[in-house]
Amino acid sequence: MSLVGRLIIDLDAIVANWRALDALTAPHVETAAVIKADAYGCGATQVGTALTKAGARTFFVALPDEGASLRENLGPDPKIYILAGYPIPEPHSHPSATQSPLPVGGRLREGALSARHFYATHTLRPILNSAVQAAAWFRDAPEGPCAIQLDTGMNRLGMELAEFTSLGSLPASVRLIMSHLACADAPAHPQNPAQLAEFTRLTKPISDLPRSLAATAGILLDADYHFDLTRVGIGLYGGWPFTAGRPAVTVHLPIIQIRDVAPGESVGYGATWTAHRPSRIATLSSGYADGLIRALGGNATGYIGSQPAPFVGRVSMDLITLDVTDCPTAQPGTLVEILGPHQTIDDLAAAASTIGHEILTSLGTRYQRRYTGA
Ligand SMILES: *Cc1c(COP(=O)(O)O)cnc(C)c1O
Repeated sequence: MSLVGRLIIDLDAIVANWRALDALTAPHVETAAVIKADAYGCGATQVGTALTKAGARTFFVALPDEGASLRENLGPDPKIYILAGYPIPEPHSHPSATQSPLPVGGRLREGALSARHFYATHTLRPILNSAVQAAAWFRDAPEGPCAIQLDTGMNRLGMELAEFTSLGSLPASVRLIMSHLACADAPAHPQNPAQLAEFTRLTKPISDLPRSLAATAGILLDADYHFDLTRVGIGLYGGWPFTAGRPAVTVHLPIIQIRDVAPGESVGYGATWTAHRPSRIATLSSGYADGLIRALGGNATGYIGSQPAPFVGRVSMDLITLDVTDCPTAQPGTLVEILGPHQTIDDLAAAASTIGHEILTSLGTRYQRRYTGA
């Protein structure tokens, strides 16, 4: 009997979702894949490889280190954009600081490459989010392909009008102009047309350059938001709002012990749940360290076949307790569905008052992981 939860990632579903999202836009619109944070926890190498085989040519990741390992695994062809941009000198440090080793993932890259060499070696394209980033990149890599991000209302990353115009005429190495929508998952939100209008206004003088505004939710708004390239992330996994997508992730946890609990006895840390009837409590082998976050305690449901079994008590670091009183077939070794046909990432997210993105990226590395398809 296994003591380890099972995570299955369906690469065919991910490819099908990418194709379905691609089919929602006009043929000239490229569908790029956002596979930051290890492809939302699903494995950037596996997801990137499957999508490359299916025809994806452009990927976005958050950080240079993610880009470097993607480059090593996908080979020279795909374009890889770095959402965080290009490192600039640290405040109060010597102006040559960008030539010092590039810190990646909390450590210095082996070989002590400068930022410039790091991006060149792995052929990474920064998304220049500020005039300072742009100046550093144009100085370090005058020919290096890059993108520019404009802020159109989210106030997170990107240049506003004054900063953008301070760049003057753009070098030919700028290959994409992009911005990001703050409210695209709320189609009626007035900020959507406002950001669309602002993006159109800011990019009017350079409308010959490819433009990108839409992530998954933006694709579903309307063709006006599609421009030349879309950036799909959560939709690859059938996450909301791409509810027409195929779920790509299943999680099953084995029951490692079942016990009988008498009325009046409590279960788990803080004794937050008390039995009101003679109950059978199953203990499952994953917890909040495996992305089944603590807020799920008392709110979520596991499924034994199609039989629901409520989470009771608090979620521990490595364990979860379920009330299986009404599931007579449950026994040690039985696999309980946490994500699968009966429960999507969005169902689980709702039980924890969060979003599917957070559920996926939290799943972690302790599952027995298997890939199917592609
Ligand atoms: C994460 C991200 C995306 C992908 O968003 P989804 O909602 O997961 O499709 C697209 N663009 C930018 C700038 C992002 O940060």
